[in-house]
Parts: sequence; C-alpha cells; structure tokens
Amino acid sequence: MSSAFAGFPIEISPAFEGQRIRRDDMYLEFGGPKVEHKFELVRVRSMDEVEDEKVQIIGPDLKDLKEGGSYPLGILIEIAGPKLETDLEGVVERRIHMYTNYIEGIMHLNQRYDIWIRIAKKSVKKGLDSLKWWGMALIKLFKAEMPYIEKMQVTFITDPDEVAKKFEEAMQVYEARDARVRGLKDEEVDMFYGCVLCQSFAPTHVCVITPERISLCGSLTWLDARASANIDPKGPNFPIPKGECLDPVKGEWSGINEVVAQRSLGSVKRVYLYSMFEYPHTSCGCFECIAFYIPEVDGIGIVHRGFRGEAVNGLPFSSMAAQTGGGIQTEGFLGIGIEYMRSRKFFYADGGWNRVVWMPEELKMRVKDAIPEELVDKIATEKDATNIEELKKFLLEKNHPVAEKIREMEAAAAEEAAAEEAAAVPEQPTTIGIPQVSLPTALPVAGQAVPAGGIKIILKGAKIHINKVIIKKTEGK
Ligand code: SF4
Repeated sequence: MSSAFAGFPIEISPAFEGQRIRRDDMYLEFGGPKVEHKFELVRVRSMDEVEDEKVQIIGPDLKDLKEGGSYPLGILIEIAGPKLETDLEGVVERRIHMYTNYIEGIMHLNQRYDIWIRIAKKSVKKGLDSLKWWGMALIKLFKAEMPYIEKMQVTFITDPDEVAKKFEEAMQVYEARDARVRGLKDEEVDMFYGCVLCQSFAPTHVCVITPERISLCGSLTWLDARASANIDPKGPNFPIPKGECLDPVKGEWSGINEVVAQRSLGSVKRVYLYSMFEYPHTSCGCFECIAFYIPEVDGIGIVHRGFRGEAVNGLPFSSMAAQTGGGIQTEGFLGIGIEYMRSRKFFYADGGWNRVVWMPEELKMRVKDAIPEELVDKIATEKDATNIEELKKFLLEKNHPVAEKIREMEAAAAEEAAAEEAAAVPEQPTTIGIPQVSLPTALPVAGQAVPAGGIKIILKGAKIHINKVIIKKTEGK
C-alpha cells in the first residue's frame, strides 16, 4: 500500500486502525462533544458533476487553525460511476471511518452528524499540515478498494457558518435514507445482513441488520447493507440466511446464531434481536444511543451520545459506554441506532415503548413521532427526574405502564420488611453458667502456670464495662 502513497508526509496503512489519540497528544480536533455542527456525507453524482481527485477546503486549513482547539467540520464526498446507485451512499460513507483510521495520526470516531476526529501532534510535525493529505488518502483508498467508484472529489468545510448550513441539508439526506426502509418487515425478507467493520475495535462484535433493526451506529439500513454485500462480496457486509425462526417475539433465528457464532469466533452463540435481556445483540462502541435497564422501576432508560451530564441512573454516557461496548453481550445494556426506536420491533420482547421510562429531552423530541401518543407525557426526561426516587414519583404520578409493577415491588418490599421485623427476636443477655469457683488470690502472670485451684478466663473481642472495682484482703492471708 505504501507505494501508492509516495510523497505523503505520513504513512497510510490498516495497521493504524484502532489508533487512539489522547487530548495531550492531539494537535486539534474536529467535531466531538464540544462542537455543535459536524457531519460527513457521501452523494452519488453523474459522471460530469464530479472532478476526479479534486480536494477542496472551504474555510481555514489545518495550519491556519489554532493548536488545541475543537472545530466544526463537514466532509462532503461526491462519487460517480456507472455501477453506483444511491443505495450505496450510506455504505461508502461508513467506510470514511475505516479509511480515515488508516492514516497515521488521524483518529476518526462515530458517523453521520456525530463525527469526532483528532489530529496527532506528531503527524503535524511530520508534515500533515493540510486537510488535502487526508482527502487525497481517502480518494486513493476508496478507489483501490471500491473499483466501481470511478470518480471522486472531496470537500472539507471548516467555515463555521457553512458547516451549519450544510449540516441541515445532511440531516435531510440521512432522514430520507432511513425512511426508504420503513414499512419493510423482517418477516417479509428471507435474508438479513451482517457487518463486521467494527471488529478492528471490538473483535467479537457482529452487527445484524434487518429491515426493522438498523445498525447500532445508525449508518446502515438493511437496503444499504444489501447493496454493499452485493457489490462487494468480500467486504465487511455479508448476507445472513435467516434459517429457522426460533422465537418470533425475542427475535431469534438459527441462521443468525450460526453466522454470529462463526464471525465472532465462537464467543457469541445466541442473539435476540428484539430484547436487551438474556442474549442481547453485542455492541461495539459506535452506537448512537445506549438503552439501560433500571431495576428499581423495572423500566428502560435511553441516552444518546450527545447528552451531557448524568442519566437518571447517575451514570454519564461515557461510563455506560465502557460497560456496553467492546463486542460483548451485556444484559441490561444495549447500544442501539436512533432509527430502531421507530421500528415495530423496538424492544418487542421487553414491552416496547411501554417499558421506556426516561430519555433526554433532546432525544425524546427527535423521536416524538415514534412514541405512542398516550405515552409521550409519561416518559420522563432530565427535566422531570434526575435520580431514581424522582423518576419513581414521576412514573407513579403519570400512571406510566410500569407504575403497576412499581406499586407491586413496593408492596412486596414493605411486606418483606414487616416480616423481617416480626421475625426479629429481641437480643437477650447471654448468661453463662459458671460453677462456683475459688478465684486465685493472685492474677496469673503471662508465661507462668495458673496457680492450682484457680481458673483462667480468656476474653476475646469482648468489651468490659466496669463501674466499680472493690479489692478486699482475704482474712488470714
Ligand atoms: S456499528 Fe455495525 S453496522 Fe456500523 S460500521 Fe460498525 S459493525 Fe458496521
């Protein structure tokens, strides 16, 4: 791969995938939690609309930005080729993550409207002083790996006003993409699709993508994954024959179990697509949201990546992400894509929306159209409850569907406490029968034999309270 990148100031290799750049080592960052507007977008254009291998930068370049800062960024990639269809836009877009991480000293996280990129100081020192290197590397990588892309141009937008403007347009494109698959049902297709693109970060993670379950990163719909698997059979997306339906409620299929076991090298053997309990889908680290079980109310909370502060369970997103991600099955914690909340199969086995009790206001507003009307006011946000006690009170007041269960749990807890109280025997002073004995006239001295006829009392861990000590001289002695 290196000869293709002759003249580049930094190396480009899959060996850099998974690289992490800590704050102390970063030159600057684009996007991430401190920046409101950021996005990456791929559009398929006609052949004459794309100027092949053109990289343009709208706004200040790397060398013009102050070191240590966090900046807005829009990445627009336009591609053309006779075999390209708009179905492939999402697939190509998701590869920006993978190929950017091939570049020495550029770390790329997340996707779509939520990207977070860090540039390493050491790479800037080596000569990575312009975004053009990143753009040129992407063009070479994409065209080498996806030969059906015949022309490609990359535009980096760093001008804040321009990023904000294009951000709105990008959001409309994502929405239109997700909407295409709405209405398709899992039962109606005979093939699901998988994705292992994130195995470089989470080696046992396998995404299963169905019409009614978008990938947890929110980037790949079933249509996208299908288009990708068809055009690039050796790539990270592949078909999963459904096999036998073992449980239509929990969403278990023999075909999924087989493929996931094989692709996770045996570490995951069963997967329930529609439940967060027992055998939940694995989570890598790219999830748009985390669903978390709240045992005190027997409900589910959902928090999105952009939420600052602590969720109602007292944990910030980052702490829960550490518990949820890594490609393992963690009962009660699950990474999900936002679009999954619009699915008919959204936590189908766990009660669906009837089980959701808390989510940040911003997220709730975003998916309000998917929440059954009668539940909208019954789901708490950070404005209604910031801890479990407040949440319980809110749910009971609003008579949320879990309220009945909360009352049952509280009644059971009260009964148990009462039973424990009744069963408790008051502590009685323990009386040890000590035979009448003659105490020695002299206290035994450590290391000496106790005088004959006396007793030795050893008290271990005892507290002795003495109000008065009377010492009498024995007659005749
Ligand atoms: S989260 Fe899943 S679908 Fe998205 S890129 Fe990673 S493995 Fe693929």
